[in-house]
Amino acid sequence: MFAEVILPLNLSRTFTYSVTAAEWDFLQKGMRVAVPFGKNKIYTGLVIELHENEPSLYEARPISQILDEKPIVTEIQLAHWFWISSYYMCAIGDVYRGAMPSALLLESETLISLKGDSYFEKDNLSDQEFLVYQALMHQSSLKVAEIMSLLNKKNIFPVLRKMMENNVISIREEVHEIYTPKLVKYIRLHPDYSEASDLQGLLEVLKSAKKQKDAVMSYFQLSAEKKPVPLKRLSEMSGTSAAVIKGLVEKGIFEDYFIREDRVDFGDDEGNNTLNLSPAQQTALKDIQSVLEAKEVCLLHGVTASGKTEIYLRLIEQYIKDKKQVLYLLPEIALTTQLVGRLQKHFGNKVSVFHSKYSNNERVETWNRVLESSDKAQIVIGARSALFLPFNDLGLIIIDEEHEQTFKQQDPAPRYHARDAAIVLASQHQAKVLLGSATPSLETYYNAQSGKYGLAEITERFGNVMMPDIELVDIKDKYFRKAMTGHFSDTLTGYIAEALSLGEQVILFQNRRGYSPVVECLTCGHVPQCPQCDVSLTYHKFKNQLRCHYCGHHIAMPVNCHQCGSIDLTTKGFGTEQIEQELSEIFPQAKTARMDQDTTRGKYSFEKLIDSFKNREIDILVGTQMLAKGLDFDNVSLVGIMNADNMLYYPDFRAFERSFQMMVQVSGRSGRSQKRGKVIIQTFNPMHNTIQQVTRNDYEGMYKEQLYERHIYKYPPYFRLIRLTLKHRDYERLKSGSSWLYEVLKQNLDIPVLGPEEPSISRIRNEYIRTIMVKIPQEKALGTTKKTIRKVLNSFETIAQYRSIKVIVNVDFY
Ligand code: ADP
Ligand code: ZN
Ligand code: ZN
Repeated sequence: MFAEVILPLNLSRTFTYSVTAAEWDFLQKGMRVAVPFGKNKIYTGLVIELHENEPSLYEARPISQILDEKPIVTEIQLAHWFWISSYYMCAIGDVYRGAMPSALLLESETLISLKGDSYFEKDNLSDQEFLVYQALMHQSSLKVAEIMSLLNKKNIFPVLRKMMENNVISIREEVHEIYTPKLVKYIRLHPDYSEASDLQGLLEVLKSAKKQKDAVMSYFQLSAEKKPVPLKRLSEMSGTSAAVIKGLVEKGIFEDYFIREDRVDFGDDEGNNTLNLSPAQQTALKDIQSVLEAKEVCLLHGVTASGKTEIYLRLIEQYIKDKKQVLYLLPEIALTTQLVGRLQKHFGNKVSVFHSKYSNNERVETWNRVLESSDKAQIVIGARSALFLPFNDLGLIIIDEEHEQTFKQQDPAPRYHARDAAIVLASQHQAKVLLGSATPSLETYYNAQSGKYGLAEITERFGNVMMPDIELVDIKDKYFRKAMTGHFSDTLTGYIAEALSLGEQVILFQNRRGYSPVVECLTCGHVPQCPQCDVSLTYHKFKNQLRCHYCGHHIAMPVNCHQCGSIDLTTKGFGTEQIEQELSEIFPQAKTARMDQDTTRGKYSFEKLIDSFKNREIDILVGTQMLAKGLDFDNVSLVGIMNADNMLYYPDFRAFERSFQMMVQVSGRSGRSQKRGKVIIQTFNPMHNTIQQVTRNDYEGMYKEQLYERHIYKYPPYFRLIRLTLKHRDYERLKSGSSWLYEVLKQNLDIPVLGPEEPSISRIRNEYIRTIMVKIPQEKALGTTKKTIRKVLNSFETIAQYRSIKVIVNVDFY
């Protein structure tokens, strides 16, 4: 008897293990098993089938251990994972690893210990070996990772190998279950005393033990609530110590027991939080409802601050009444404390948050709640990975800000698009999908236009608030007139001064973090580059460092040019850090803060920033695209876009679409209540079509223009893109390998194959990069094309000199 098992490794196939008769009886699909793999590794596998077909190529090894009492992965999930693996051309093992909270994938950590019974010459040990030996005298075993830090080096395997050969140490593998549910102790009456008639007798017995008698009396009071009695509460109420209660347990009067307590718990102040929908919201809701009766997917295209969230709430309500599960996906969970609060206010305890910043334990808890269809997880709110939770009865998926590119996972595999994978998941559950955005992706809007998705619209802001007034500032002209202070035009500083004088808040957007992107030598023109990547280093003034944004490499800001020794160094371009500094000089009295990757690393730093901005402790918030994601501040009257051009000229076919989305979204943070907001866009190209479309809030115009371009240049939605990325440290080998792959693909596919191209950043962490793009016309069968690509990749791997070239497949490249 055999079990078919997926392993959490980059492996496309499943593996067959043998099971005993007893295990066979117990095992079910979707349970985890610890299995040996390779020489002495142990992994957590997932059983996907039980069968009697002996593998022909290898001898099935027995499983080591069954890890679950019941399945923790559902059949629908498995089907969904296999869809992802086939559609996105990645290993099922990668999907499994990506889908499960890591705490459910047991870790196999190598433990090292002394070999107690052997003899060796201590004097023959090297210094490092002696260190290890000494440490192991004090501690029975050490993890490989601990020894690394002990010796302060990565490559410790030679040291360990030698010690093993000399019989000093041995290696053993051990599996740890990381997840430890938090247990709470409860107290109940021993069954002997549960009869009412015994109570008098009981109190009689305890007459002389006053404290114990108090505890028993309090117990009766508490148990009148007909709920389990926690030890802690009993002790508090009776004013007795845990030791007194323990004495009662020892006497056989009480019993203690455990109930697993949920870690993430929100108070349950449910209900009466319903706002009245505006007529526009009501119409949109009705439209959505009627669309969803006929179609699976509906797009809600509503301008910024039109009140989309409130509509989502109403729709969720409807599915909750029908006892369905609801999944609410957001581009980035850290940005959504506001929304989480809103949902909890409305739905109380029914909301669970699935958050990559939450601990392993908390994530396992949510997993289990969803699996058990617990009320507490009827609504799950999370970023893309929440898609992998074990839903039983999903009724609705909401995808807010559906245009956000963070929904597409770039690295590592599975490189899935959460919006598209959610639509597939919904159809497996026969659930509905609502996509929401003020600036829908071209693909989605195209699907809504073609009738594949339904469409509902809101064209006005909630509460008759006007769309912000957008003013363009031509900075070429301003420089010419000497009307710039640093990177601020006099127009922008004028409006900032006005807003500040009225006690209103300001948001400034700059698409780049750091102080300035480039340091240049004025004498020889040298620009410091990252030694491992094909990019120049970014100057971070506060740390006085040059940093690489691709690999993290950093050096102290040089005083002289490394090339010619000149001290005439200058900085070019600007980032958020420089804006913040210029601000402090122009408006020394204003309180400013910066929101970008550098300032929001800690667990709650993002939330803190948002809170203090909301509480008006900050006057001016400077930030990167993080600002664009659905934040709602009611006192912001001015938004400044420092430079619209660097977004527009980004080398990407989506650059105009993205710039439009970014500018409209950032602008949308302005004037969200009552007073009409103001937006200043500084640009060298005020007549650029995309910028003009932003000023008119002309989504349709942008859509039509871009769609036309996509058609001509063969891009989505007319063509699907599969991008192959090849990487190797050896430039020549990569070059010949990518040419080979390109030629063979071209011969085997009768569709456009482009490349092999050197991307604009052609080396990262010392690996050279080439890309090949396959464009698949809409009418062409996707499956057969992928099969062909797979075949070609398989032959590529059989060529000895190319085997070491990494090939990354990105389906629906974003
Ligand atoms: P969007 O997501 O469309 O940008 P929001 O959902 O953030 O807009 O709503 C914008 C603002 O209007 C929020 O402050 C929200 O609380 C308020 N709002 C929306 N709908 C209502 C309503 N029906 N009653 C009262 N306030 C509302
Ligand atoms: Zn120089
Ligand atoms: Zn680098």
